[in-house]
Amino acid sequence: PVDRSPEVQEARLKLPVLAEEQVIMEAVRENPSIVICGETGSGKTTQVPQFLYEAGYASDGRMIGITEPRRVAAVSMSHRVAKEMNLPTQVVSYQIRYEGNVTSDTKIKFMTDGVLLKEIQKDFLLQKYSAIIIDEAHERSVYTDILIGLLSRIVPLRNKKGMPMKLLIMSATLRVEDFTENQRLFRTPPPVIKVDARQFPVTIHFNKRTPLEDYTGEAFHKTCKIHRMLPPGGILVFLTGQAEVHSLCRRLRKAFPFRKGNTATAEDEEAETSEAMRKFKKAKQKKTVSLPRIDLDNYSALPVDEGDEDREAGIGDEEDGDSDLDLGDDPADAEEKADGSIPLYVLPLYSLLAPEQQAKVFRPPPPGTRLCIIATNVAETSLTIPGIKYVVDCGRVKKRFYDKVTGVSSFKVTWTSQASANQRAGRAGRTEPGHCYRLYSSAVFGDFTLFSEAEITRRPVEDLVLQMKDLNIEKVVNFPFPTPPSTEALVAAEQLLVSLGALEEPPCTGRLKDMQRAKLSCPITPLGRAMASFPVAPRYAKMLALGKQQDCLPYVIAVVAAMTVREIFEDLDRPARSEDESSKLNQRRARLTQMRRLWAGQGASLLLGDLMIMLGAVGACEFAGCTPRFCENSGLRYKAMVEIRKLRGQLTNAVNAVCPEVGVFVDPKMTPPTEHQVVCLRQIVLAGLGDHLARRAQGEDLVDPKWKNAYKTPLMDEPVFIHPNSALFKTLPEFVVYQEIMETSKMYMRGVSAVEAE
Ligand code: ADP
Ligand code: MG
Repeated sequence: PVDRSPEVQEARLKLPVLAEEQVIMEAVRENPSIVICGETGSGKTTQVPQFLYEAGYASDGRMIGITEPRRVAAVSMSHRVAKEMNLPTQVVSYQIRYEGNVTSDTKIKFMTDGVLLKEIQKDFLLQKYSAIIIDEAHERSVYTDILIGLLSRIVPLRNKKGMPMKLLIMSATLRVEDFTENQRLFRTPPPVIKVDARQFPVTIHFNKRTPLEDYTGEAFHKTCKIHRMLPPGGILVFLTGQAEVHSLCRRLRKAFPFRKGNTATAEDEEAETSEAMRKFKKAKQKKTVSLPRIDLDNYSALPVDEGDEDREAGIGDEEDGDSDLDLGDDPADAEEKADGSIPLYVLPLYSLLAPEQQAKVFRPPPPGTRLCIIATNVAETSLTIPGIKYVVDCGRVKKRFYDKVTGVSSFKVTWTSQASANQRAGRAGRTEPGHCYRLYSSAVFGDFTLFSEAEITRRPVEDLVLQMKDLNIEKVVNFPFPTPPSTEALVAAEQLLVSLGALEEPPCTGRLKDMQRAKLSCPITPLGRAMASFPVAPRYAKMLALGKQQDCLPYVIAVVAAMTVREIFEDLDRPARSEDESSKLNQRRARLTQMRRLWAGQGASLLLGDLMIMLGAVGACEFAGCTPRFCENSGLRYKAMVEIRKLRGQLTNAVNAVCPEVGVFVDPKMTPPTEHQVVCLRQIVLAGLGDHLARRAQGEDLVDPKWKNAYKTPLMDEPVFIHPNSALFKTLPEFVVYQEIMETSKMYMRGVSAVEAE
């Protein structure tokens, strides 16, 4: 029996999913797998685990497991459910990579999908669990897709062995055919239970014009107007990334400030102005540094400025037509007067935000203020914020794009899908009728794609293939993917893994057809198994696996950590807004150039190029105690450096777990590598990045001026370049390896290191 408080009990009764408890539990009893569809906020995530708990699924020493694609949801939902059930967090717990509060008493366990995938590697039958809930399946994250494929096999196996397990797939949309009508996945289609959400009507207001550039500015004006002109109710603004979120927060706080001494929020506001100083002050107060969290669930650190994850899909309610609440989008009447009479309680919300900051969005705003949340995609389906009446939707999402052939990647802000836009609009109608202001025209909306593609079809899959091989799934092509990646992507992944030594070479004999088949079913090598245990992409995992030589491991760990965290240097190339700022920027640029030269080292070190600069930066920063001040003075991004620090610790643990005999540790006073070690490091880097080789253009190519100072790569016809900020920009060695090619104004190689011509 669960002892819930009367308030919780009352709140639960209002959730649509509660009306379906009988139906859901009956379906669970009668079927090995079921699908539950229900609009965001209908109570799936918080209630379904409780149904299972009360039906006895956690009673025989087994657990109920719930996976989330986002860490935010895993952490905050576990807290919420513990609170609702009046149980301690030792019983209702969470586990995200390298962090969690699971105990031997845990009965309900929230985790990221990556965590469960790792558990399957240890125990394929998942014997600790009596039921697994795959939440947010509509997001179609790569790991969720793989888990569903694996569980479609695990569930019948468990039944056969007489220890049945239940699978519940939960989706915020009705678009579940990829799971239910996929014969390879489930021979008998699982029943679909629909939860009718009590959604209030949301009036959609389209802009007449669509701002092509400054949608953040447009979001600012719209939010100001809503706040000044419309009745009470929370505002939720959707932007694409963390930097945008913070910039809009600042502008809005300035426009509608709190009066001095106005509750705790004034302090919050000030504290938010400088992230670095905030962390620093807090660290001084508490004597412990609270580190930002790294998203290791995707096997790489999430770049800070790239916006949040890009998964979305869904169906929302929409109502057409104008109303008196249509604010119009004429810039002529968009002049904002700072009306400070009603303060706006502005909060940011994105994945990497510290949990205590995230928790604020669930609390009622201070009396006499209006709640205003500036969010990325996380607010689209993962979290339901109470009291939202107005949604402002920029209509965009930031995504990483990969060129399928060359692997060249770029971050682009693109239009979101119709389903996603409707999902965003739906956030406004949870507690009463709401309004959604779309910062684009209805014609533009009409051109959006209906749904966004499953993530697995959009990115390289070498990390997945390696993880699956480690699960002894040899023929990855035959795996029951809900949506399979392209055969080209799978072949490319196997080829890379073979060249890295993670998979065995396919035999070169037999007919062409057999050879092609063999190419797609190479078995994993012992090296591959070691690589699979490192939480980084295979190229970097290879470097870690080789790091033992010449005591190079601490350096390899530092370099890999730095390479996985994006943008370790501050962006000083941004345009200055004032003369004063311009001269300051110039000073800092000069200083950074100087530091870069220092970190690049001398003699042999120079050839390690950008990686030596990274190593030098990490070493120097650590030596100085990794303070905001040091970073500021040296042109380093403080947040990136703190992430690197945490990642170094994690990689060090991972390496020690694989080969305890090396006993590597994080040395805060790491001395620069010796000349001999630099040679060794370059070999290790070449071993990891060998397929990213580029050679200086020569001969007849140089007739065409576009090839001046350019490099040629095997996969591209186009010239690629060394960036002026690179350590090797002046040297231009004949052969280089690069970390990746990013397309900005030109095709630039990033993380360049020189290779000896042999
Ligand atoms: P779903 O998974 O169907 O989207 P949830 O179970 O996440 O729905 O949410 C159900 C309700 O519980 C929502 O109305 C939401 O506002 C509320 N809720 C969820 N988490 C919290 C929290 N941490 N604090 C307060 N209310 C919450
Ligand atoms: Mg949910």
